[in-house]
Amino acid sequence: MKAIQIIRPNDLRIVDLEQPVPDSENNVLVRVTACGICGSDIHIYHGTNAAATYPRIPGHEIVGVVMQVHSDSGSVKPGDRVIIDQVIPCGRCYACRHGRPNVCHSLKVRGATVDGGFRQYITVPDRYCYRIPDSLSHIEAVMIEPATIAMQCCSRAALDSDDTVLILGMGNLGTSILKIVLQESPRAVIAADINDSRLADALAAGADHIINPLHENLPLRCRELTGDYGPTLSIDAACVPGSLLSLLESTGNAGRVITMGFSSAPDGVSQYLITSKELDIRGSRLQNRKFQSVIDRVNTGRLDLKGSVSHTFPFEEAQKAFDFIDSHDPSIRKVVLTF
Ligand code: MN
Repeated sequence: MKAIQIIRPNDLRIVDLEQPVPDSENNVLVRVTACGICGSDIHIYHGTNAAATYPRIPGHEIVGVVMQVHSDSGSVKPGDRVIIDQVIPCGRCYACRHGRPNVCHSLKVRGATVDGGFRQYITVPDRYCYRIPDSLSHIEAVMIEPATIAMQCCSRAALDSDDTVLILGMGNLGTSILKIVLQESPRAVIAADINDSRLADALAAGADHIINPLHENLPLRCRELTGDYGPTLSIDAACVPGSLLSLLESTGNAGRVITMGFSSAPDGVSQYLITSKELDIRGSRLQNRKFQSVIDRVNTGRLDLKGSVSHTFPFEEAQKAFDFIDSHDPSIRKVVLTF
C-alpha cells in the first residue's frame, strides 16, 4: 500500500509499505477513504510539533470503510463507514484513572507519536472506530474530528448559557469552536481575528460581535461590548505569542481562560491578572471520547458539519496540498486528502 511519510522535517515522501493485517489487538482493517489535513499535521511536516517523532505517517482525521474484522467485535462489521479516534491512552495512570485519558501520562496519538491515517489501509482496535452518520459523505465526515476538539474545549470550559464567550482566532479551530459554543446559547459570542474575511464568516455563522485586534484594542473593545465586565469565558484558538496575555487582560472576574496551543516558547503573563480576577486557566488537549456525542448531534440534526471542506487533493498530490496550505491562500478552510 501507499503511505505519506514525513521522513524528517520538511521531507515528505510517498512510500510503499506492507499492508497491515488485523490481529487480536488491532482487530479491524480499515481502508482509508478521506483524511483531513490539520494544523498539527503541518507542524509535524515542518518540525514544529514538540510531541512528534520521525519518521511519521501523519493524519488523525481518519475516515474509511471497514474491510475485515479479525475477531468478533460487535461494534463494527465489514462495510461500515467509520472515523477513528486518535487518542490511545494507557488506561492505568492517574489521568486515565480520573477519566482524563486524553492527557494520559503515556499517551500515544495517531499521526503524531504513532503512525496515523495518511495511508491506504490502517488496522485499529474496534473500540476506536465510530460509525459516521449516513447524511455525511466520507469527505464531510472528516469534520467530526475538529468538532470533537471543540466539544472538549467547551467541556473543559464548563460553558453555560450565562457565559459571554470570546473566541480568539477564527481559523479551522475557532470556527469549529464557534459552532459548538453557539449550541449552548450563551449570552453573546465575540469572535476576534486579524483577518476581516474570517470575521465576516464568523458573523455569518452566528457570532454576535467581531473584533480585529490589528485595528482595535482587544481588552478595551471587549469591555465596551460587555457592559464593562469582560467575557466570562475566553478561548485561545489563535495560539500565537501574546494571545494568552491579551485573553487574561480581556476576561472578566471569576472567568475562565482556555489554552489550546502547543508552542513551547515562553509567553509572559502577570500573576496580578490571574489572582486579582481569580481566573481559571485550563488547557484543552485533543478530546476525551467525544466522537459519539458529535455523531449523535449530527444524527439528530442539531449539528451541521457540511460546507466546511474547501479543497480536496488525491493523496498522490500530498506535497501539492501541503504547499497549498503553506501559501495561506484566503480560500483555504479544511483541506482533505482522498485515498
Ligand atoms: Mn484535527
